[in-house]
Amino acid sequence: MKLTLIKKIQEAKDIYTFVFEPENPVNWKAGQYIFFKIPHENPDDRGEIRHFTISSAPSEKNIFLTTKFDFENGSSFKKALFKLNQGSSIEGFNLGGDFILENLKAKYIFIAGGIGITPYRSILMDLAHEGRLTDIILFYCGKADGIIFMDVFNEIKKKYEWPLIHFVIEPQLINEEIIKEKVADLEDRIFYISGPMVMVRIVEEILLKLNIKKSSIVKDYFPGYG
Ligand SMILES: Cc1cc2nc3c(=O)[nH]c(=O)nc-3n(C[C@H](O)[C@H](O)[C@H](O)COP(=O)(O)OP(=O)(O)OC[C@H]3O[C@@H](n4cnc5c(N)ncnc54)[C@H](O)[C@@H]3O)c2cc1C
Repeated sequence: MKLTLIKKIQEAKDIYTFVFEPENPVNWKAGQYIFFKIPHENPDDRGEIRHFTISSAPSEKNIFLTTKFDFENGSSFKKALFKLNQGSSIEGFNLGGDFILENLKAKYIFIAGGIGITPYRSILMDLAHEGRLTDIILFYCGKADGIIFMDVFNEIKKKYEWPLIHFVIEPQLINEEIIKEKVADLEDRIFYISGPMVMVRIVEEILLKLNIKKSSIVKDYFPGYG
């Protein structure tokens, strides 16, 4: 499908959201991803295609891509993305993914590592749009200058009193003690983890040590970040 860039929003020092208008209406579930192709000159060995979570909720209609830039050592893809002008079109395809909420009666813990916050923006906006009251605790982990989307989360919180957000700011890293201290009913909850691959692996190990069943853990890995 043809996606036309209509806006570029700076979320933090090195994090931007690109707002694309699809040529035709697109149906997706909050938390899903889509592949983007950006043809450009001399692509590096990572090529011209990447997938990104759609950080917007379906009710927003436009497709938001939120990503982090390494302005010195970044890929040719990210350089081409950053250089896109308003009004330019790229190709989006193969929408999919199962990092979605299946059971709206369950209680959830969302754990985000840095840019891994993207699916939660979509999911939380979607729940708020549908007016569903779901018990969600969000652990938002990362660098202080990389915390984004707080305007959206605060707006939802003002209206619905959730999600309850605990920040774990570096150099502090999330660990068993922090989770145990903040959550009393661990065994009753479903855990979602999203972020760079290494972070997701470490957090899963922490949860398994806390005797959380593997079947209660849903993961979204972002490869490509060191
Ligand atoms: C389901 C899913 C959803 C995702 N959602 C998101 C999302 O919402 N937001 C998001 O930002 N990412 C997301 N990703 C990850 C995304 O697809 C990219 O892999 C990631 O953003 C890294 O992009 P990049 O490869 O262009 O590297 P860059 O971000 O440009 O660089 C990252 C690091 O990789 C190294 N590097 C750069 N280029 C090269 C190269 N050619 N060869 C070797 N090393 C290099 C550098 O050290 C650099 O610091 C998702 C991935 C999956 C699987």
